[in-house]
Parts: sequence; C-alpha cells; structure tokens
Amino acid sequence: MNVADDKAIVKDYFNSTGFDRWKRIYGNGEVNKVQLDIRYGHQQTVDTVIGWLKADGNLPELSICDAGCGVGSLSIPLAEAGAKVYGSDISEKMVEEAKDRAQQTLGNGENLTFAVQDLETLSGSYHTVICLDVLIHYPQEKADEMISHLCSMAQSRIILSFAPKTCALSLLKKIGSFFPGASKATRAYLHREADVVKILESRGFHVQRQSMTKTRFYFSRLLEASLK
Ligand code: SAM
Repeated sequence: MNVADDKAIVKDYFNSTGFDRWKRIYGNGEVNKVQLDIRYGHQQTVDTVIGWLKADGNLPELSICDAGCGVGSLSIPLAEAGAKVYGSDISEKMVEEAKDRAQQTLGNGENLTFAVQDLETLSGSYHTVICLDVLIHYPQEKADEMISHLCSMAQSRIILSFAPKTCALSLLKKIGSFFPGASKATRAYLHREADVVKILESRGFHVQRQSMTKTRFYFSRLLEASLK
C-alpha cells in the first residue's frame, strides 16, 4: 500500500465507521470496556498537555494549531482556557462534530476556529503546534514529512504524540481491539522515539517535557519540543 492510499483510507475511515466509533470513544455515553479504556487513556494524554500549558501560565497569550483535531477534545478546553486555537482535521465529519461540541461548550467564542484540512496543506505560523494521536495512521517516512511540516509552522514549540515501537508486542497483540471487526479499516503504525526525536532535532527543536500514557489498550508517547 502506498502512502497516498493510507491517507485516502484514513480520511474515508474517519468520515464513516471510524467517525461513529471515535465520536463515541471521545464522548461521555456508554461504550464497551475496550473503548472505555481507550477513552480514559486518551483523556490522560489530553489532560497532560493541558496541564503542561496551564502550568506555564500564559495560555491566553498563545496561538495554537491543533492539527488533526478530531472532535475537538483538546482544542475546546484550550480555547476555554483563553488560548487562540485553530483546529483542523482531514475528516469533515470529525470537524462538524467538533464545531457542534464547541458551540455547546463555548457558544460563538471568537478564539476557536475549525476547518477541514489535511495537515500537510496547513500554512501559517503559530506559537505552539500540537498533533495528538494522528501519526499512528502513517508510516515513519510519511510521519517524518508531517512532523517536518508541522515544525515549519511552529514559532516556539511543537507537541506530538505517537504509539511507541517499544510497546510493539503488547500493542500488536491488542491491535484487533483498536480497529475490531467491520471497522478494521485502517492500520496502526508504531514509531521509534529515536526517529521522531531525530526529525525534531533536525528542525532545531529539543525535547523539554515528555510523558507516556499506557492503559490496557491505549499507548501514547507524548513529547514537547521547543526551539532553543
Ligand atoms: N487529535 C485528536 C485527539 O487526540 O482527540 C484526534 C485523534 S484521532 C485518533 C486521529 C485524527 O486524525 C482523526 O480525526 C483523523 O481524521 C485525523 N487525521 C488523520 N490524518 C490526517 C491528516 N493527514 N491531516 C489532518 N487530520 C488527519
């Protein structure tokens, strides 16, 4: 499968069965045990990022790009905390849902904008660029290009999460639970931390804070890297 296929498949998945599945996981309603575990794991990743940014004490001064924002799980609380947030996603359905959720939480807040866009076509310049749980959908070579592009938009800092290759065995054992049955329409790629750090460093970014979320079915390594 080539990379263009990967992207088309991912887009299609998050506009169909993937949308239904992830909208539920990233919500409050009833879900099965595996989905509940993934919901908790993902929330930990989101909470860690929010905790880092709030601890810095300057959120209202920041412009943030949330690339691959999904249903707005991170964009919405960051905007609520006063940041100027631009969230975008390749899936129209995810963006529609993000807009609905933002409307319910924030009304017509002016500091949050959502758009349908492939992250590789994003442009502009933001204090902080964030990309959570998106790289899992792409092989390393493509992930490198994506990280590089995201770095080019970051004035100061980039925050990324990915499924680390060190957890490969346990993840592979459980991979069927990520995309089970009929919705097994995309594959999950693992990335070596050294490869991710290498590409960040080649763009002048150095890792400042890091975290790992690991539940039974959810693995996510989180890195914050800043320009020196
Ligand atoms: N970042 C969100 C979060 O953590 O709540 C969503 C994570 S979800 C597992 C992955 C998201 O990445 C999906 O909404 C999908 O549509 C989006 N995505 C995948 N490839 C993308 C691309 N090339 N450009 C923008 N979004 C993409």
